[in-house]
Amino acid sequence: MKPKDKASSSALPETPNRRQFIKQAGTVAAGAALAGEAKLWLPRVQAQEKKKIGYALVGLGGLSTNQIAPALQKTKHCRLAGIVSGTPSKIKAWQDKYQIPSRNCYSYETYDQIANNPEIDVVYIVLPNGMHAEYTIRGARAGKHVLCEKPMANTASDCVAMIQACREADRQLAVGYRCQFEPHHQACMNLAREKTFGELKMIDAGFGFKIGDPNQWRLKGDLAGGGALMDVGIYALQACRYLTGEEPMAITAQESKTDPVKFAEVDESIVWNMQFPSGVLAYCSTTYAFGGINRFHAHCDKGWFSLDPAYSYGGIKGRTSKGEVIEKVEIDQFAAEMDDFAACVLEGRPSKVSGEEGLKDLKVIEAIYTSIRTGKRALVAG
Ligand code: NAD
Repeated sequence: MKPKDKASSSALPETPNRRQFIKQAGTVAAGAALAGEAKLWLPRVQAQEKKKIGYALVGLGGLSTNQIAPALQKTKHCRLAGIVSGTPSKIKAWQDKYQIPSRNCYSYETYDQIANNPEIDVVYIVLPNGMHAEYTIRGARAGKHVLCEKPMANTASDCVAMIQACREADRQLAVGYRCQFEPHHQACMNLAREKTFGELKMIDAGFGFKIGDPNQWRLKGDLAGGGALMDVGIYALQACRYLTGEEPMAITAQESKTDPVKFAEVDESIVWNMQFPSGVLAYCSTTYAFGGINRFHAHCDKGWFSLDPAYSYGGIKGRTSKGEVIEKVEIDQFAAEMDDFAACVLEGRPSKVSGEEGLKDLKVIEAIYTSIRTGKRALVAG
């Protein structure tokens, strides 16, 4: 079923900008003929719209609905231009809510036709992990830049194929590592780089939560690629990598499964250690069995700094051994991430959270699973 095009009767999509203009025009020139005013303003409004990078969201689940679409409204350089979904009723609801014309709405079957749509510059892949590779590669082949949610893919070899497809299409590829745009995390990266508390020696990092619905895709091996580690442990792994600025060489890991039925296909709880070239050691944890772990603590030779909670969408709190509070402005991490990628696209430069960055995490994750499987120390693939 083709969704009804509510906006197609208008020459200009009913974007928030346009509605805002109409409201302003009504205030400034009360009584003026709105149609005449609008005609005067149309080219300028269109020029403003043009400068914004058009995003199409691929997958309209929880993250797209509750975080990404609202964040897009707060961006400076992006706009919600299109949507891709397998559910016609969702498409209709999103069209109504965000004034998205039918020409910018796709199903998973018609997705490749996005190639013919100049209003869409970026496809943002917000599907289950096991679908990231296919939709990234199809997006790149359709000539679109790709922002892909974390984890980048189920395997490192899928990451390599995604990087290759984007390279061949001369398109940018980035991974949704929102924390790298978050001011508390950035402050901690600076504390580590500037050695404010001396040399970084050890990091203790973890992220977990109690997962509900036993039938969700996050518990299915092919769609999730793994369990807590792939879903949220990856934040702790990322933190260790961007605090040290190094790649771990070797891993030892252990897994525990207290509910082998629920977690038949994916991991429930994992602890793992990482050894970095400078000698930094990291001990990390992740779980789907209980809530409460959401932090990192960086031990240096002259003190420490930490974030707890560290990886939430907001409310991040930091402290240091000097008794200071790391207090930074709250931002919308998704808006910052999308604006940064828009700048990368406009300036033709790679993102700091590039596909290569996503591949590095998958190599470590594979070493963690290897260590669990073999019961031995595993080296991270170069
Ligand atoms: P979700 O289950 O809420 O949404 C998934 C969407 O994919 C749904 O719209 C569903 O209809 C669609 N879909 C298409 N084919 C499917 C299939 N075969 N099985 C199941 N769903 C299918 O998931 P979500 O929480 O929105 O997560 C989507 C992605 O975003 C995941 O990769 C996840 O890791 C990532 N994510 C990132 C963050 C973050 O903070 N960066 C937070 C949550 C999720």
